[in-house]
Amino acid sequence: MRYISTRGGAASLDFEGATLAGLASDGGLYVPEAWPALSEAEIAGLAGLDYAETAVRVMRPFLGDSLTEDELRTLCRQAYGTFAHAGVTPLKQLDAQHWLLELFHGPTLAFKDVALQLLGLLFERFLSRRSEHLTVVGATSGDTGSAAIQALAGRAKVDIFMLHPLGRVSEVQRRQMTTVMAPNVHNIAIRGTFDDAQALVKAMFNDASFAGRFHLSAVNSINWARLMAQVVYYFYAAVRLGAPRRTVAFSVPTGNFGDVFAGYVAAKMGLPVERLIVATNVNDILARFLTANDMSARPVEPSLSPSMDIQVSSNFERLLFDLHDRDGASLARTMRDFEATKRMSIPADMRAGLGLFGSARVDADAMAMALRRASEKSCELVDPHTAIALAAAWDAGLPADVPVVTLATAHPAKFPEAVERASGQRPVLPARMGNLFDRAERYDTLPAELAPIEAYVAERAVAR
Ligand SMILES: *Cc1c(COP(=O)(O)O)cnc(C)c1O
Repeated sequence: MRYISTRGGAASLDFEGATLAGLASDGGLYVPEAWPALSEAEIAGLAGLDYAETAVRVMRPFLGDSLTEDELRTLCRQAYGTFAHAGVTPLKQLDAQHWLLELFHGPTLAFKDVALQLLGLLFERFLSRRSEHLTVVGATSGDTGSAAIQALAGRAKVDIFMLHPLGRVSEVQRRQMTTVMAPNVHNIAIRGTFDDAQALVKAMFNDASFAGRFHLSAVNSINWARLMAQVVYYFYAAVRLGAPRRTVAFSVPTGNFGDVFAGYVAAKMGLPVERLIVATNVNDILARFLTANDMSARPVEPSLSPSMDIQVSSNFERLLFDLHDRDGASLARTMRDFEATKRMSIPADMRAGLGLFGSARVDADAMAMALRRASEKSCELVDPHTAIALAAAWDAGLPADVPVVTLATAHPAKFPEAVERASGQRPVLPARMGNLFDRAERYDTLPAELAPIEAYVAERAVAR
């Protein structure tokens, strides 16, 4: 299996190369050169398999010669062995038609663990074969940083430098990053905003003389291996609800479009998916595009679902690539126009490829109502991100015989204030988080300026 860039101007890579590269050199994102398919019999054969074995069957067509099936199995057992729930991503019934797919039983209580626990092991495995050292740099508003740090802490041949905005991430999120004492983990609090942190990371990648000294890499959801790992739970859930004989719908709290794109990949591979509901908060650029062909970026409005406070969703480019009939040069033109004008609409014939997607914009009131309804009618406390997707699912008007699975992307105890305000109940941090509030923290505070941050990284990272 080869991986090609969505903008058509970078050399193709194998799975190992695409995993270590993150972004393609022409600014595009890597996608498989063709979508592999699982036959109906192969999908039926997933029934009764545990999560790690399901992961092997679903991911193996993507790996080519980069890993043997046994190596993949070992990594999946190790990655998913860190989850607190024996079902890894258990399904819970809410009412006659609706289910929650709980994706938050990993080490940092958010769904990003599902992909990053595996990605950390893939990095370690691939780097051990090469005489190379990787320097991961990232910016986080909370969830990605903690999940990436938990996944990479103590791994050989990788250093991780994570920038977060000083005083602007929750205490749970900060402590999940700063209490990790592994020597390859470097937390930097920036005197600035999340946007400042993200701009600094981009500037490091764009500084040719700095980037040339280190093998820089990214762990955000532009990394193909992360999306691939997320395809697994669509199969896992749908098979438990009767696929391939039955068609299943999913409602996905969406920010960077990575999670819901994984659902699209599952459908491309042959999973019978009735609909993928793209649920957004008031930062609704995707909902506007899907309902009114209006993709115009507006300023980001902070909300109670911060991981969805995004205007330009990086993974949407992967879907646009398919809508452009996989013509990289044509998509590169569309993306350049969008970057210049901050708006995009596409012709009607291309929109025909969007048939699988529904969308909904859920404001703070509707989010709180869904959260309360789940606690009162189904005895489930959900987090604000999940509540947005649940509101969209209950509102979607799907036929009563189609099961609807809402992806529960964070544990409610990550957002205790918002959950308590809406439901009257205070969610409890799982016992395995234990002494998070007593552990020592380690991080350095730097100004939001490129020179001191580059100097800090250069002092601690391993040069090429
Ligand atoms: C990252 C995140 C999302 C958004 O997922 P995307 O793949 O960026 O669309 C939703 N909910 C939570 C809790 C998250 O951490």
